[in-house]
This record gives sequence, structure tokens and C-alpha cells, in this order.
Amino acid sequence: MSLRSVVRNATGQDVYVCHACFDCDIDARHEMDIPLPSLIQLIWLNDEEALQCRTLWSDSVLQASRGACKRGLDLYAVMTVLREESNRRAGR
Ligand code: SF4
Repeated sequence: MSLRSVVRNATGQDVYVCHACFDCDIDARHEMDIPLPSLIQLIWLNDEEALQCRTLWSDSVLQASRGACKRGLDLYAVMTVLREESNRRAGR
């Protein structure tokens, strides 16, 4: 199943509403390897890098993601389900 479908089925959030406006570009550079908007683009592309990047696993980014999307995407829910999917695929 694609990452977009995993996210949509689990959360009702569709990353296709993202227009890459970068309004959710959270300033936590010391804990991030890619900007949060790029993480959303990786989901679009079904790129498993989305499941392994440091940005996904940063608790600071996770907390800051609440309400960060001005287009109404629930980025906290998206990140949480991506973490769960990463653990599932790793057999954890
Ligand atoms: S704020 Fe929302 S629409 Fe804009 S880049 Fe971030 S996720 Fe995409």
C-alpha cells in the first residue's frame, strides 16, 4: 500500500492537499535532516525515506507540527501514523 493510502486510511488526511507552500517549515534544524514540507512530498512520492528520516523521529518537530499546516492538514496525525507504519514495516 502506498504511503499516501496508509496515511489516508488511518487518519482521513490526504497529503494531496499540500501545495508545498512551506508555511509549516518548522525551525528545529538541529533535529531535522529534511524540512517538514519535504517529508510531506516524500509521502506524495511514496518514498520510504519518509519513514527513516530524522525529521519524522524528532519529538520537537512532532509537537511543533500541531496546527502548523495552514491548509488544514493534521501533520501531527500524519507523523504519528508514519512512525507506526515504519515500526510495522520493521517488524517492531
Ligand atoms: S503548510 Fe500544509 S500545504 Fe503548506 S507545505 Fe506544509 S503541509 Fe503542505
